[in-house]
Formats: sequence, C-alpha cells, structure tokens
Amino acid sequence: SGKLYQFKLVLLGESAVGKSSFYTVYIQTLYIGDLDDVFQAKILVLRFVKDQFDDYRESTIGAAFLTQTISLDDNTTVKFEIWDTAGQERYKSLAPMYYRNANCAVVVYDITQPSSLDKAKSWVKELQRQADPNIVIALAGNKSDLSARRAIDSEEAQAYAADTGLLFFETSAKTAVNVNELFISIAKKMPLE
Ligand code: GDP
Ligand code: MG
Repeated sequence: SGKLYQFKLVLLGESAVGKSSFYTVYIQTLYIGDLDDVFQAKILVLRFVKDQFDDYRESTIGAAFLTQTISLDDNTTVKFEIWDTAGQERYKSLAPMYYRNANCAVVVYDITQPSSLDKAKSWVKELQRQADPNIVIALAGNKSDLSARRAIDSEEAQAYAADTGLLFFETSAKTAVNVNELFISIAKKMPLE
C-alpha cells in the first residue's frame, strides 16, 4: 500500500547550452553520490533501486527521457521522468507537446552566451502562459566553470529569477557543481502529499 509520485521534468533552453550534459551528470551523480542528500528535507531516501532504472528511450517526436525511480523508507516511490530534446528545441511548434503535463522544468542558459539568457526568458514566459499553472521552474546558468568567459552577471540572473518566482543556480555539467543541488531543490518544492 505504498504511494507513488510521478513527476515529469522537462529541460528547455537554446541549443548547446548543456542540457543533455547537465542531466547526464545528474543521473551519474545519483548513482555514485550520496543519495541521502536527495529529498532530505521531506523524506529520507533509504536506497536507490538500480533495477528500476529504465533504458534511454527515443520517442516518436525525437525527445528522449530517462525514468528515475527512487524508493523511500515509508513505502513511498518517487518517479522522475526527465525529458531531453534531441535538438527539437529548434522547432518551436513541437514545444507544447514536449512540456504538456510537465510538473517541473529546468530552463538552461550558458553564462558565456548572452543570447541564451534571452532565449531562456522567452521559454519561462511561454511556460508561465501555457504550461500547468503549478509547474515548478528552475533557471540554470550553466558552464559556470568558464568564468573567464562569463558574459552574464550572477546578480542580474538571480534578480530576474527572484522577480519571476524561479529557483536559480549557476551550474557546471563539466565539474558537476550545483547540479545535484538544483534537482534537490526542485524535489523539495514538489507537492508530496
Ligand atoms: P544541449 O544542446 O543544450 O543539449 O547541449 P550539450 O549538452 O549537447 O552541450 C553542448 C556543448 O557544451 C558540449 O560540447 C558540452 O561538452 C559542452 N558543455 C555542456 N555543459 C558544459 C559545462 O558545464 N561546462 C563546459 N565547459 N562545457 C559544457
Ligand atoms: Mg541536447
């Protein structure tokens, strides 16, 4: 008589900002990292069941998703469907199919590419207009390891995120900085009751 919570998480952002790298690092970190840190605020994760890890899939629209199932100590199972595009971010008309029924979204930009923040802002607007009104949105300023080439101030992006009601982290898929933290903070914001 356990409970199952299922959440669909979509990754959005300009091409080459690091969306695919970013979630691959997250999945890998879940396997080798400290799983007790995940969901720590709401519930204790006792173990991560590797058997329930599904294969990487390609759907008919070319988006791919990984299902990440986490078993909790109180007979609760949380399942994340993490959707990544296979370059479809270029085809704007496919987007609504992609974020339909999404419970959470990570909108990624590249801190070295000012145009990518503009693109991220337009995704946020679209999500806030068209997606589920309860969607949890996180903004990720990726490639924070490339600080010498930084073109977007942290403070500016942080202020925008605060004004817009988004979670915000600067991340690096290369060094894994803040990748887990971002997903953990999304998990903490999801309704588990
Ligand atoms: P996507 O098109 O948004 O899915 O971007 P990809 O994940 O394919 O990444 C695009 C390029 O950026 C690849 O060459 C990655 O190796 C590189 N990349 C992704 N994340 C980072 C990061 O955090 N730091 C650095 N230095 N490079 C990154
Ligand atoms: Mg990609």
